[in-house]
Amino acid sequence: MNEGILNLVGIGPGDDLHITPAALNAIRESEYVIGYSTYIGLVRHLLTGKQVTRTGMTEEIGRAQAAVEAAASGKKVTLISSGDVGVYGMAGLVFEVLRKIGWKRGDSPEIRILPGISADNSCASLVGAPLVHDSCRISLSDLLTPWPVIAKRIEAAASGDFVISLYNPASGRRQRQILEAAEIIGRYRPAETPVALVKSAYRRRQSVVLSDLEHFLEFEIGMNTTVIVGSTNSFVYEGYFVTPRGYTNKYSLENGEIHTGQRKGFSLRTEGSLHSQPERSEERTLNITKITGAFVRTATSVFDGEEEREQEPEELPQDKSVQTALKAIQLLQGAVKSVEKPKELGIETKSTGRLGRLGGAVLYETDGEYYLIGNLKQPCNFEDVGFFTPEETIGRCVKLRIGNRELAESFVFPYLIQGGTSPEDIYEKFSVYRNSSISERLFTLVQDNSDKVIWKGTEYSDLRWIGSMPLPVWNIVRESILKCS
Ligand code: SAH
Repeated sequence: MNEGILNLVGIGPGDDLHITPAALNAIRESEYVIGYSTYIGLVRHLLTGKQVTRTGMTEEIGRAQAAVEAAASGKKVTLISSGDVGVYGMAGLVFEVLRKIGWKRGDSPEIRILPGISADNSCASLVGAPLVHDSCRISLSDLLTPWPVIAKRIEAAASGDFVISLYNPASGRRQRQILEAAEIIGRYRPAETPVALVKSAYRRRQSVVLSDLEHFLEFEIGMNTTVIVGSTNSFVYEGYFVTPRGYTNKYSLENGEIHTGQRKGFSLRTEGSLHSQPERSEERTLNITKITGAFVRTATSVFDGEEEREQEPEELPQDKSVQTALKAIQLLQGAVKSVEKPKELGIETKSTGRLGRLGGAVLYETDGEYYLIGNLKQPCNFEDVGFFTPEETIGRCVKLRIGNRELAESFVFPYLIQGGTSPEDIYEKFSVYRNSSISERLFTLVQDNSDKVIWKGTEYSDLRWIGSMPLPVWNIVRESILKCS
């Protein structure tokens, strides 16, 4: 029997320039490539003619098993992860599967592990040099690790003054963990400690925010964000986030001379430097991933290279809850429509409101009045779209004053909604605190299930049913199904 090969490959942050040539070769030489849909999408141009299995987010176990089985049968298989395959990637799970089937070194398949640029490295490169001194990675995902364990590690890292890279900091469902992490770290570090939020590094939707411990929660943090929290030595210089290596503890920056009392090539001398070692703890936490009885559905097809347009995670339905929500929305929409059918267009144009998106917030027009609803997620120039800049800071709903009526009226509003609906009601229905990607998803879900209407020569999605839907009913979708209250 042919010796099979299983390549475990990290493809880096996501663009062609930051994947290693070794990873590219491994993918090129494979007959069969397996990975999460998004990552397959990122290397799709390399996959023409190969057998490809794209799986969803929660199907890791099946993906690892399928890879091991195919390679054991003699195939050249590549399993791809983003970043580095050994950092919250698939490599660990593959070894758990191998152990379970009793695989030994020398057996088929041969395992080859190829390194990739992990998110902390790629994100650090976009903000400066935050990882120059001791740092650690902590994932805030409590899907497989109990929260008390994570909290304890955050506390230990914070008290140890490590720079901390937080992976999986939040998602549509998980928003609480990052708040708690900030609270724990805040007990050990000053409010002005630099914090970088890097989203989708080296991908099309890259965004970089440099903030500090006191303010970073005001910005969007999602599943494609890595949060880098500085140590007490980190500083910001010319917009760069820097953690010093410590040269100035020993040498003078003025003349390069060594400080008195220090010796080149010897340990740095400080008070108590050799006596402050913490006691070793015997306590251990075991983290066991269950494998038995896993049932996983995968979609396998021969890739023609042109099949799928490039997608990024926020555009994909990410878990079953979204599918369920879609169904629920269809049901609700049907129910509300049958009770309260909106009047025909044209007859009641006066009570027709329109919704659009401005700087990530919702722009609502009703009876010629405009409201900005929710927080701005990106800076925006109001005058370009016909309004005066709002004077107060944006709270929940702000009534916008019109500067240039013509411009304001030409603003793109893709959605029609029942006019007279209060802006506060729209806020409750569409805004999600600190997470614009899920409000986008709410819009998309609703839009996908709405009729299209032509009004004054423009095509809109007809969302009027949602304007008339009682808030408690809509909240069932948001809270119980999408879990995004
Ligand atoms: N194996 C990956 C990590 C997977 S865990 C690696 O080594 O990078 C997924 C988390 O990684 C995300 O929640 C995010 O915190 C981080 N991440 C992965 N790719 C990223 C990117 N391009 N930009 C920012 N963060 C990213």
